[in-house]
Amino acid sequence: MRILESYADILIVRHPLEGSARVAADYCSVPVVNAGDGAHEHPTQTLLDLYTIRREKERIEGVNVALVGDLKHGRTAHSLAYGLARFGGKITCVAPKGLEMPPEMLERLERDFDVRSESYNSLADFVSEPDRLAAQVDEPVLSVEVLRFIDVIYVTRVQKERFNSQQEFEAAKGSYAITTVLLRHARPDTLVMHPLPRVDELAYEVDADPRAAYFRQAAYGLPVRMALLAAVLGKHRTKARSVEGLIKRPADVDLTSAGVRCQNSHCVTTAETYLRARFVPVADRPNRACCYYCGQEMTVHVPRD
Ligand code: ASP
Repeated sequence: MRILESYADILIVRHPLEGSARVAADYCSVPVVNAGDGAHEHPTQTLLDLYTIRREKERIEGVNVALVGDLKHGRTAHSLAYGLARFGGKITCVAPKGLEMPPEMLERLERDFDVRSESYNSLADFVSEPDRLAAQVDEPVLSVEVLRFIDVIYVTRVQKERFNSQQEFEAAKGSYAITTVLLRHARPDTLVMHPLPRVDELAYEVDADPRAAYFRQAAYGLPVRMALLAAVLGKHRTKARSVEGLIKRPADVDLTSAGVRCQNSHCVTTAETYLRARFVPVADRPNRACCYYCGQEMTVHVPRD
């Protein structure tokens, strides 16, 4: 990164380790954009997702978005959840068992944004009530009644590359899909969004439905990212006078000398071992802190004033 910063005016980082973009930003003097760091976050996708919602629904506040799919590993779902919470959107999580949104993220949404999300384990269409009873599936199903309150279905693929074993992936794959049958129960103005690429969680036949917004969503990515580059490079006047002023670095505590390390095996600190063990204390939770890099919350004793 130190070499690249002298070659370019701005660096766009996409990397499999969580927290890698943060490290790059800390070491580089040119602006760094996080274009996806492992399962952690994907903020520019969120900009275009929020833009799509605002453009097509004319607002974000009060819009109920069902985040569907692999919410454990899906970085776009993580960033979008925070983005929606920041602008007053409503969040409904629909994830198969084992792939739910990390509980500490749901807690953070509640703590920092006062957003309480609804959670379900499956969609109405592939587990119909008789099937559910026959299979004795005892899990919360997003029913057809609830589906009517959903303004946006944001579906994501099972993130194959982020599973610890092939076996775990096999168990998860193909466990949900958005189909025309399901959409028959959705409102005529419900949007279907997807960050793409698609695997098998979104039927091809849905493409012909005017509610399918994912190709328009991808197209909006171009002007949104152009605007971001222009703003970051100071080529375009934004309401915020300085981008620098927007960046609030969390106050962290260096626990290197205490021998503490981040417990997330996908954290950038596991590979870049020269990094200090920096943790941001969680408000009102005495023994909880988040890794400064990957954001994972864990039990850590942080001395406080
Ligand atoms: N393209 C998105 C990402 O980079 C979504 C995906 O890969 O599933 O995270």
